[in-house]
Amino acid sequence: MEQKADIGLIGLGVMGSNLALNIAEKGHRIAVFNRTTSRTDAFVEQAGDLRDRIIPCKTIEALAEAIRPPRPIILMVQAGKAVDEQIALLRGVLSANDIVIDAGNANFRDTMRRFHELEGSGLTFIGMGVSGGEEGARHGPSIMVGGTEESWRRVEDVLTAISAKYEGEPCAAWLGTDGAGHFVKTIHNGIEYADMQMIAEIYGILRDGLGMAAKEIAPIFGGWNRGRLNSYLIEITAKVLEADDPQTGSPVVDVILDRAGQKGTGKWSVIEAQTLGVPATAIEAAVAARVLSSMKDERIAAQKVFGVAGPGLSADRANLLPDLEAALFAGKIAAYAQGFAVMAAASKEFGWNLPLPVIAKIWRAGCIIRSQFLGRLAEAFATSGSVPNLLMAPDFVEMMNETHPSLRRVLARAVEAGLPVPALSSALAYFDSYRQGRGTSNLIQAQRDFFGAHGFERIDASGAFHGPWAS
Ligand code: NAP
Repeated sequence: MEQKADIGLIGLGVMGSNLALNIAEKGHRIAVFNRTTSRTDAFVEQAGDLRDRIIPCKTIEALAEAIRPPRPIILMVQAGKAVDEQIALLRGVLSANDIVIDAGNANFRDTMRRFHELEGSGLTFIGMGVSGGEEGARHGPSIMVGGTEESWRRVEDVLTAISAKYEGEPCAAWLGTDGAGHFVKTIHNGIEYADMQMIAEIYGILRDGLGMAAKEIAPIFGGWNRGRLNSYLIEITAKVLEADDPQTGSPVVDVILDRAGQKGTGKWSVIEAQTLGVPATAIEAAVAARVLSSMKDERIAAQKVFGVAGPGLSADRANLLPDLEAALFAGKIAAYAQGFAVMAAASKEFGWNLPLPVIAKIWRAGCIIRSQFLGRLAEAFATSGSVPNLLMAPDFVEMMNETHPSLRRVLARAVEAGLPVPALSSALAYFDSYRQGRGTSNLIQAQRDFFGAHGFERIDASGAFHGPWAS
C-alpha cells in the first residue's frame, strides 16, 4: 500500500503548485487535489524528481484518504466563495483533529467567521497569510499564521521548513488567534501599496520633472538599493527600468499602460484603518492613486483641458538625487509607522496580542516588502516597546529628523512643477500633523458647536462648554 502523505493541498494554481513543490522538496509527502483534473495531471508531469513525494488525487475523498490523520490540508484557491465551498466539501470527508489551513488572501473577517464556524466541529481552522508571489511560494515565502497556538504547534515544523530564512531565522510565525494572520497579511499588502506608489512618484519626478529616460533612472534605483533603501521593491524597480520590450526595442516600462490593477487587500487595509480610527494616509493615497490611474480616458480628457507638467523642475540633478533618496526614506518611515499603528489598534480591538517585532522580523525575507529597513524596525519595537508610534522610537526619531527636510524640499518642487505626489505628500502631512502639539482642530470644534451644539473642551477648565454663538 502506498505510504500516506504528511499533508494535503487543494488548488494547484500559481501559488498552490509552487507551495506544493516547496513542501515536497523539504522532504514531506504531499497529497494534492485541484478542481480541474487536467491541472493536477500537468502539475505532476512537471514535478520532476519531486514526483515521488506527490500523491495526485482526482477527488476530495481520495485526498482525505491519502493523508495520514490527523490531517493538515492547505487550501490555496481563489479567495471568497471558493474557500467556503471547499470547506463545506472537506467537512464531509475529514475527521476530528484535522486542520484546514486557508493560505489564500482571505479577508480576515471571513477568516474569523470560518474559524468560529468550525469551532466545536472537531476540525481546526488556520488562516494563513502567505507573501512572496510565485517565487516565494516555491523557494520560501513569509508566512503569517492565525489560529489556536495548539494548531500552530502541529504544523510549525512544515511551515518553518518551507518559509524564507533571514540569517537562518525562519520567516514564519504564529501571530494570534482566528483572523490575526490574514489581518497582518492585509496590512503587509497595504504597506506594499504605499511603498510601490512612493517609488512610482519618485520615478515620475525623474521622468517628468527632469526628463530622464528609463535607462538613466535604472542605475539611480540600483545605487539606492545598495544603501538604506535596500529592498526587493527597489531592486526590481531598477531591473524593470533596465528591461527592453522584445517587440519594439523600447524600454518595456515605456510601453506598459499606466493603469494599475488591484485585488482588494489595499482597499481592505484602508477600510480597516478607518474602522479602527487609525490614520493610514499614505496607504489611502496609494489605493486612491491606483483608482485614479484606472481612469485613463478621463485623465486624457483632463490633460487636454488643463495641460500637464513637463520637464522643468527647479532643481539641478546632482542636488536633487540625494534629496530624492532621503525623501523616499522619510515617506517609507511614515507609511510603515501607519501600517504598524493599524496593527497595534487591531491587536487591542480583536484581543490578538500581535507581536509587532516578530511581524517586522518575518517580513525581512520572503515577502514583497522585504528589506533591510525591517530589521531596524524590529529592533526599534523590541527595544522601545512602549512607544505609541514607530515615529517615536529613538532610532526612527533620528532617521526622520535627518530625512524629513529632504521630503519637504522634494515635495515643494514637485508641487510647484505640477507633478502628482499623493503618497509622499500624505506621508509628510501625517508627520507634520503628528508632531504638532497645538493643532487647528480647536476651530473645527468651534464650527461643530456653532452649527450642531456639539460642545467643546477648554484648555483651561474641564467639562463640556458651548460658545457664545447664539448671542
Ligand atoms: P490562480 O493561479 O488563479 O489559481 C486559482 C486556484 O483556485 C486554481 O487552483 C483554481 O482551480 C482554484 N479555484 C478557483 N475557484 C475555485 C472553486 N470555486 N472551487 C475550487 N477551486 C477553485 O491563483 P493564485 O495566484 O495561485 O492564488 C491563490 C490564492 O493565493 C488567492 O487567494 C490569492 O489571492 C493568493 N495569493 C496569491 C499571490 C500571487 O502572487 N499570485 C500571492 C499571495 C497570495 P481550477 O484550476 O479548477 O480553476
